[in-house]
Amino acid sequence: MPRRTKIVATFGPATDAPGVLEAMMDAGLNLARLNMSHDSHDRHRERARRLREAALAKRHPLGLLVDLQGPKIRIGQFAEAGGIDLAAGAAFAIDAACPLEAGDQARVGTTLPSMAEDLSPGDILLLDDGAIELQVEAVADGRVDCTVLAGGRLSNNKGINKKGGGLSAPALTDKDKADIRFAAEIEADYLAVSFVCNGDDVRLARQLLEEAGGKGGIVAKIERAEALHALEDIIDASDAVMVARGDLGVEIGDAELPAVQKRLISMARDRNSVVITATQMMQSMIENPIPTRAEVFDVANAVLDGTDAVMLSAETSVGKNPTKVVESMSRICAEAEKERLVRRSGHRIDAVFGRVDEAIAMATMYTANHLGVKAIAALTESGSTVKWMSRISSGIPIYAMTRQVPTRRKVTLFRGVYPVRFDVSSTDIHEVNKEVIEELLRHGTVQEGDLVIITKGDRSGVEGQTNIMKIMRVGEHRLLTDD
Ligand code: PGA
Ligand code: MN
Repeated sequence: MPRRTKIVATFGPATDAPGVLEAMMDAGLNLARLNMSHDSHDRHRERARRLREAALAKRHPLGLLVDLQGPKIRIGQFAEAGGIDLAAGAAFAIDAACPLEAGDQARVGTTLPSMAEDLSPGDILLLDDGAIELQVEAVADGRVDCTVLAGGRLSNNKGINKKGGGLSAPALTDKDKADIRFAAEIEADYLAVSFVCNGDDVRLARQLLEEAGGKGGIVAKIERAEALHALEDIIDASDAVMVARGDLGVEIGDAELPAVQKRLISMARDRNSVVITATQMMQSMIENPIPTRAEVFDVANAVLDGTDAVMLSAETSVGKNPTKVVESMSRICAEAEKERLVRRSGHRIDAVFGRVDEAIAMATMYTANHLGVKAIAALTESGSTVKWMSRISSGIPIYAMTRQVPTRRKVTLFRGVYPVRFDVSSTDIHEVNKEVIEELLRHGTVQEGDLVIITKGDRSGVEGQTNIMKIMRVGEHRLLTDD
């Protein structure tokens, strides 16, 4: 049984070595993430080219995700190389008037000069992912005077968060806009948008992507406290959401994260959306050959929560053994999926369906789960039928049979969905069922006597037309005279 949960891995210096990306694909990689916070477009373009080439050569379905840096607010730099040491109790200021490269022991500049307007005495600022904590004492003329609550070494360009959220940076920076055009240029299958606050941020990114000619889906990264108050709008405006536990944990506190992860995953699935769980899943494997027990449980728990995909960041981009991380993660996911709990579903059991194709998708899954079907083959153009199907927990593989290359790459993110190249337009209309089953037989996914469900439309090759669900037994398909 193939693994259902998908693996997203970030590409960087550690994956550039010869043979590494091929080995990661062999280990079961489903999507490659290019992180715009690092490296030049030229470097990412070269990575994307190599990835696509290798995927084609191996006939390995691989999605490509471009992740925007977003308006991450940062301190400036220090005049002294290596930064400064901040002691608890000391006074320190973040000052818009301080030149970006001229920080010292008393103050440092910021990439968001208007920051002071969003702050008042008593607020807590978290620097360097929360390693350093400052309490705001006074705010005047773009200068924020603070007392150090938790001190330590502070070096150049570290991130700033306000505890509880509320620093109002623009949704997309000029760099983000250039990166969106780059995502369109390399035909990314997904564009991940960082630090979204609401659905409008998502719609703006989509509009810019479309204006640049991009056709990828939008992944909204949930990593600001504000986003938690607009989840429904964000989920409905995007194609997928990411539980971005790194920045989110800094804003809302690490102890709140597990509950938010569970809530977000179930909410996304309920609303027919897709979800990626990200950050520090296998963190210790940046250095070590095996994960900690806590990491094993973290990955497995995300699978049990119902995530579509789990993500690797530094573990692969700068880790010691990127291939081994993918192998370990794959093993843990596959084992967690065997747990009976994840094969039951009450998904949309009380819902009224608005569309015929959605109703077919739901009926198919209900039947498949209760009849002992071996595989589902969905003839699809846009991939929406298989997305609906995969919102229902099941252990049965869903094959997305399509001639559309972008669709085959997009479905790499959906849990339990496997793309298969199948050109319905060059298949005799009366032979489609036969051909589908022959294709599954060639793949070795079904055997003589297995039950299979096929879904398709009367008008094959047209989007949104799925209106037929057909249950067939492998072997009997040869006796078919027509549709
Ligand atoms: P990042 O986003 O890795 O781009 O910061 C993910 C996160 O914050 O968890
Ligand atoms: Mn982040």
